[in-house]
Amino acid sequence: MRIIVQNAKCQGHARCASQAPHIFKLDDEGYILPGDIQVAEGEELPASRGARSCPERALELTR
Ligand code: SF4
Repeated sequence: MRIIVQNAKCQGHARCASQAPHIFKLDDEGYILPGDIQVAEGEELPASRGARSCPERALELTR
């Protein structure tokens, strides 16, 4: 599983990181760092929870 990060949509709510801080890394101002996220095996559940929690739809799950 991979998560496509659309930084332009991120508004810094940090909801993704509150679900899974080890998967969703934020900068000092609370915006998600650029670059797609490769989800490790066994991390699919927190990764999908975090991605779905984004109110800006900045995190797109892909297989
Ligand atoms: S929840 Fe969405 S808007 Fe908030 S920091 Fe994460 S990616 Fe950005």
